[in-house]
Amino acid sequence: MWEAHLHSDQTQAMDCVDVCIVGAGVIGLALARTLASALPGRDIVLLEQHGQVGMETSSHNSEVIHAGLYYAPGSIKASCCVRGRELLYDYCNTMNIPHRRLGKLIVANLDEQAKLEQILARSRHNGVNSLQLLDAHQIKTLEPDVQADLALWSPDTGIIDSHSYMQHLLREAQSGGVMLACLTSLLGTRIDPTSNGFNLRLQSAGETMTLKCRVLINCAGLHAVDVARGIEGLHSQHIPRMQFIKGNYLRLSGRSPFTHLIYPVPDPAHRGLGIHATLDLGGQCRFGPDIEPVERLDLTVDSSRIPLFSKEIKRYYPGLDDTRLHVDYAGIRPRLITEDGSAADFMIQNAATHSIDGLWQLFGIESPGLTASLAIAELVSNQIRDSGLF
Ligand SMILES: Cc1cc2nc3c(=O)[nH]c(=O)nc-3n(C[C@H](O)[C@H](O)[C@H](O)COP(=O)(O)OP(=O)(O)OC[C@H]3O[C@@H](n4cnc5c(N)ncnc54)[C@H](O)[C@@H]3O)c2cc1C
Repeated sequence: MWEAHLHSDQTQAMDCVDVCIVGAGVIGLALARTLASALPGRDIVLLEQHGQVGMETSSHNSEVIHAGLYYAPGSIKASCCVRGRELLYDYCNTMNIPHRRLGKLIVANLDEQAKLEQILARSRHNGVNSLQLLDAHQIKTLEPDVQADLALWSPDTGIIDSHSYMQHLLREAQSGGVMLACLTSLLGTRIDPTSNGFNLRLQSAGETMTLKCRVLINCAGLHAVDVARGIEGLHSQHIPRMQFIKGNYLRLSGRSPFTHLIYPVPDPAHRGLGIHATLDLGGQCRFGPDIEPVERLDLTVDSSRIPLFSKEIKRYYPGLDDTRLHVDYAGIRPRLITEDGSAADFMIQNAATHSIDGLWQLFGIESPGLTASLAIAELVSNQIRDSGLF
């Protein structure tokens, strides 16, 4: 996935491109692929600061295709997860991207029954009607090593090879004419009042240069707020407050005791899904991610987390042998801070928010952003098409 960086003579020759997408994570890639077919013949450039696409959050997650059970009804997270999940399964089938719709259990004790029923009710609100309530006997049949009184069975949850997915998005975008510029960072943006566009200051492999664009899409993930701060003329009231929430993973060595994904009932106080067990396509079992607010983008995983993980896991897997737990990797969520401390939705800003024609900004694209990527791309692409800019 290595790509060329930009040269100043190229940007001078391009003068003004139609669309510039900042950030080649899964969201920027899905947007590039969708816009290439929605706006045929338009010049679209995708900027990525690293030498390859998808090096940040998009390659440090659980690779789960979420069904859409937990999100507030009416939220962008809920609608884009449900729509995105089906778009993603279709895309995987069409493109032969490795994935499995293996299903997940949310396991509970009798005193957590009310919480399980709340999840069931919420998922129905979100249009997910495939959930089934299981008793202890049915749980044992599916997962003999799991101890629980009740469970919700979600058959539409799955796993995906996210690297293969991103490679396919990139290939499609590039065959649709999108130009990917790696090792290229957006340093700053000035709104150009004469040309109704944006003047971008870029750094590409050590060289500073400028580029103009008509539409600017900020989908820079953990750096989206920094990119927004670099837009001269954007009022600070449109720049949300964000915090970094690290999620650490531990790997279970040896054969996985599970054949499905196993989640505890989430604890709303921690706004995570609890220490759950996921599987990758090779059958490797890992636990996490946990919730760790951090100041810096440091992905080191500390082995001191093992006892806490072990305690949580043993609530549903009492047979865990702690010596099989090993530190694995971590990812960082770009979580938006809400006034009342409630769970934040994805934030998609356009001219209706900040009155700047041609500027789209995506903030707080944490989980289920991978699942929702094609639906988010569809939503933003439709907004651009309907904006009358082209
Ligand atoms: C621990 C964890 C587990 C998760 N698990 C799941 C899951 O199982 N299922 C699911 O659906 N979702 C999951 N997610 C969420 C999912 O990973 C993200 O929503 C998704 O990857 C976000 O993609 P993105 O493109 O917005 O961000 P990123 O992947 O971070 O991409 C942004 C890109 O912008 C680039 N960039 C930044 N600033 C600049 C600049 N100035 N110039 C040029 N380029 C720039 C960065 O280098 C980066 O490549 C998880 C997230 C985390 C943290």
